[in-house]
Amino acid sequence: MARPIIHAYRAAEPGLCVNSYLVEGESGVVVVDTSLLVSDIEALRARLRALKKPLLAILVTHPHPDHFNGVAALVHDREVPVYAAASVGRVIEDIAGAKREQWTPTYGTEWPAETYYPNSLLADRAQVRFAELTFTVRELGPAESHADSYFLLSAGSHRPVAFTGDLAFHGTHPYTADGHTAAWLAALDILAGEFAGVGTLYPGHGDPGPPVFAEQRRYLLYYREVVRRLSGGGPGLSGAAKAELAAAMEAFLPGAPLAWMIGLGADAVAGELAAADAPAAAR
Ligand SMILES: [Zn+2]
Repeated sequence: MARPIIHAYRAAEPGLCVNSYLVEGESGVVVVDTSLLVSDIEALRARLRALKKPLLAILVTHPHPDHFNGVAALVHDREVPVYAAASVGRVIEDIAGAKREQWTPTYGTEWPAETYYPNSLLADRAQVRFAELTFTVRELGPAESHADSYFLLSAGSHRPVAFTGDLAFHGTHPYTADGHTAAWLAALDILAGEFAGVGTLYPGHGDPGPPVFAEQRRYLLYYREVVRRLSGGGPGLSGAAKAELAAAMEAFLPGAPLAWMIGLGADAVAGELAAADAPAAAR
């Protein structure tokens, strides 16, 4: 049996360098995550059309717009199942409107006019099959976002590979603004154990390769340590403290893209740490 071909489409930095993947099987294509901006989503659709095979399904790893924004354009009047872990689907329904309001002033018409919600919600470890392709979902709860998951792909006797969304960024600064870094670290511990038999990991940002969970863990631990020192136990960072945090993290990951995300998550993580460090009686 032929190994499925995995095509990546990567957006440029305005589109957060996000990866979407087209998994080409013998009878059709499964798309994993769908890009952020209209121009990238159009380019992703063109890649799909060029494969000249039917779209079998769309899988969404987690509820951030750079992963779900393109679903509506890809579905486009077709009956296509859009799969997500149940918690992922619920959070998309909760937050898509607020994200549109927050980011439309920045992105204008580059923000898609419509949101299409996952229509097939999956329980943890559920499997979906498309001929020789079997995807297994793992639902991990809050980590990088309010609800993270990954999809394991098995095809015949080939070593399984995994689409891990934003559970580990590879060589880019991560998004931390949902303020779940403690839960994210716990999820990374679980993942390190679960990925023993997995070949390639296909991340939401950065290059595919062997698992990079240890690198993500080191980044988060250092980020939390610097935020804790600069916030002095308070729920936010001053402008000067954010600049110092940015300098520290840029020295940690020299030349990495998405450096503006460092400051974006600072207050959320300071708030998370302040709440965790507060005496129980004061909560
Ligand atoms: Zn992302």
